[in-house]
Amino acid sequence: MDCSREIEGKQAHDPLFDKIMSKSSRCVFVPGPVIVGAGPSGLAVAACLRSKGFPSMILERSSCIASLWQLKTYDRLRLHLPKQFCELPLMGFPSEFPTYPTKQQFIHYLETYARKFEIRPRFNETVSPADYDKVIGFWRVKTVGKKLEETEYVCRCLVAATGENAEAVVPKIDGMGEFGGDIRHTSHYKSGKEFSGKKVLVVGCGNSGMEVCLDLCNYRAKPSLVVRDTVHVLPREMLGKSTFGLSMCLLKWLPMRLVDRFLLIVSRLMLGDTARLGLERPELGPLELKDLSGKTPVLDVGTLAKIKSGDVKVCPGIKKLKRHTVEFLDGKMENFDAIILATGYKSNVPSWLKEEDMFSEKDGFPKRPFPNGWKGECGLYAVGFTKRGILGASMDAKRIAEDLERCMKEKAAPYDHHQRSVLLLKSSSSSPSP
Ligand SMILES: Cc1cc2nc3c(=O)[nH]c(=O)nc-3n(C[C@H](O)[C@H](O)[C@H](O)COP(=O)(O)OP(=O)(O)OC[C@H]3O[C@@H](n4cnc5c(N)ncnc54)[C@H](O)[C@@H]3O)c2cc1C
Repeated sequence: MDCSREIEGKQAHDPLFDKIMSKSSRCVFVPGPVIVGAGPSGLAVAACLRSKGFPSMILERSSCIASLWQLKTYDRLRLHLPKQFCELPLMGFPSEFPTYPTKQQFIHYLETYARKFEIRPRFNETVSPADYDKVIGFWRVKTVGKKLEETEYVCRCLVAATGENAEAVVPKIDGMGEFGGDIRHTSHYKSGKEFSGKKVLVVGCGNSGMEVCLDLCNYRAKPSLVVRDTVHVLPREMLGKSTFGLSMCLLKWLPMRLVDRFLLIVSRLMLGDTARLGLERPELGPLELKDLSGKTPVLDVGTLAKIKSGDVKVCPGIKKLKRHTVEFLDGKMENFDAIILATGYKSNVPSWLKEEDMFSEKDGFPKRPFPNGWKGECGLYAVGFTKRGILGASMDAKRIAEDLERCMKEKAAPYDHHQRSVLLLKSSSSSPSP
C-alpha cells in the first residue's frame, strides 16, 4: 500500500486524527521515512525498505524518476562503467543488455525497478526547507508544487537523496553577456546535430566534455576543448577487461599506488603520452586522486583519437569573451559560434536541508568521509553522496534500510503516540516559536 493511501486510511477511520489534520489540509503525517529525490539513490532506498515491508514516501521536484538521466543528459550517453557496477540493490540488469547500457536502457531498467518495488514518488514537489522540530521530535518537510501550492510532510526519518549533481555549475566568464552566440551547460546539450558545421568551444575536460567533443565531431561540427587543469585519461578497457573492473580486482591484492602505477603504464602503452596532446596528468595517480579528491579519471571512448587527428583542438583557459570571439589565457583570439559548458554539477543540500551537523554548508556533502557519511542524527540519512556513483549509492541504500528497519522495530510506537505528536506539532506551529 502506498504511504499516502495508508495515511488517508488512518484519517478516514479516526475522527480525532481527522479533526487535527483538517485544520490544515496541506499538512501530511508520513508514518515511514520521507526520501527527497527520485533518482537511482532514492529509488534504491525505497526498494530496500519495501523489501523489508516498510513503506516510504519519495518527494521529487521534477515530473519523472531519474530526472538527471531523462532530462539532463545527452543522447549518445551510455553508462561509463560496466553494468555490473551500476546495479541497484535487489535487481540486476537484464542479461541481454550490453556491458555499457545506453541511457534509454538504463532509464528502462530504473522504470522497471520502480514498478517492481511499487515505488510511486510524489512528483512536482520541490522540498524547501526541511528541518527538525526538536520540540516534537519530527522532521518538517515543506514542499512547493507546480502551482506554488505548499505542503508540509511530517515524518520521523528523512533521507536526503538529491544527489551530487543536483544543480549545474555555470562559471562566470568575463564578457559572457557580450558573446552573442549560444552558451549552454551540458545539462541542456542533447546532440551535435544542431551544431553541424559550427565552431564550438567545449569548456571542461571531464567525461562529459570529452564525450561532447566526440559527439560534435560525429555531426561534423568543429569542436575545441578548453583544458585548464590536469587530467587522467585512461582507456575504457585494458587487457580485455574494463579498466574499472580490473582496478577493483587488483585493489583486492595490491596497494593503491601500485595499481595506479600499473594503470599509468598500460595507459601510456595504449594511448601514448597524453601530455603531448595538451592533457597533462596530475601528480597523484588516478585512483589515489579519486580517493582523496573525488576527481574521476576520464575513460576514453574515442575522443583522444580525435584530438590526435586534429579534429578536436585543445585550448588553454578562457580570459574573456567578446562578440563571437574568445580570448584565451595565452593571448590568442578565436571566433566561435557556440560554447558548451561541461563544467559539472554540485549538490544542493544546503539550499533545502536546514541542519548543520551532517552536511557541509560549503559543498553540500556529508562531513564524515566514506563509508561513514550515510547516517546523521535524529533520523537523518544521506544516500548517493559517496563520489562512487551508483555502486556507492547502493551500498548506502542497503545500510540505511537495515538501520531504519532496526530503528523502526525498536521505536515502533503505537498509533495514538503519533496522534499526540501531531497534536503537539499543531499547537507548536500555531504559537510563536520560543
Ligand atoms: C553524464 C553522467 C553520466 C554518469 N554515468 C554514470 C555511470 O556510468 N555510472 C555511475 O555509477 N554513475 C554515473 N553518473 C553519476 C550519476 O549521477 C549517479 O550515479 C546517479 O544519477 C546518482 O543518482 P542520485 O539518485 O544520487 O542523484 P540524481 O540522479 O541526480 O537524482 C536526484 C534527484 O533528486 C531530485 N531533487 C533535487 N533536489 C530536490 C529537491 N529540493 N526536492 C525534491 N527533489 C529534488 C532531482 O530532481 C533528481 O531527480 C553519471 C553522471 C552524469 C552526470
